[in-house]
Amino acid sequence: MQRHDTLSTPNIEAWLRAMAQAFEDNMARLSALDADLGDGDHGSSMARAFRAVVAKLDAGAQAQDCSPLLQMAGMTLVSVSGGATGPLFGTIFLEAAKTVKGKSALGLSDVAALFAAASTAVMARGGARPGEKTMIDALEPAAQALRQAVEAGLDLAGGLDLAAVAARTGAQATAAMLATKGRARYLGQRSLGHEDAGAHSVALMLAALAAVAAAEPAR
Ligand code: ADP
Ligand code: MG
Repeated sequence: MQRHDTLSTPNIEAWLRAMAQAFEDNMARLSALDADLGDGDHGSSMARAFRAVVAKLDAGAQAQDCSPLLQMAGMTLVSVSGGATGPLFGTIFLEAAKTVKGKSALGLSDVAALFAAASTAVMARGGARPGEKTMIDALEPAAQALRQAVEAGLDLAGGLDLAAVAARTGAQATAAMLATKGRARYLGQRSLGHEDAGAHSVALMLAALAAVAAAEPAR
């Protein structure tokens, strides 16, 4: 399998398309998770939002570098995704766009900076901290895994593999957490035993990026 050390702008487009596919494939599962803790719309909201992202890509939302593509995805998530948390998912991509401004190729340290900034921005905007059973419990471990991967000198695909595992493990760990943010907070103790839908979505996003890094030939 060919590995490469940077994500190009076409790779970022491939990531956006891969997330759209992942949200189509996992729509029912995500909505079922959200039905346990919230209002059951999370899968359909994410799938609808990423369908709109793909429509814009298909209509020729081309870019010389990564930032405008991420910006477009963020704006689309904020405006299209239903529910109060669309803007929080949009924040991930809007913050990512800021972090990579002017770059046409992202190395592991750029990707690490991107996710660190995204996690910090979502925490600032939504007020959730790690351990409160939200998407932060997948996003923050992914950001930390990326930082450790940079320090350990891993290559891009290796670092993203670690981040994807950290996000998935973090999402699974939300089952044992008590919700204090979002709609799930109304359930109190009854929120125990259910994985958080938004954390599961973040794990899908990281898995899609790891797959792009591992599979796409350098362009
Ligand atoms: P809504 O709650 O408006 O129906 P979604 O169902 O699309 O929106 O998303 C729910 C997800 O949003 C939750 O599973 C959780 O991960 C995330 N979430 C909710 N509130 C917050 C918050 N304050 N900070 C971070 N993430 C949050
Ligand atoms: Mg919901």
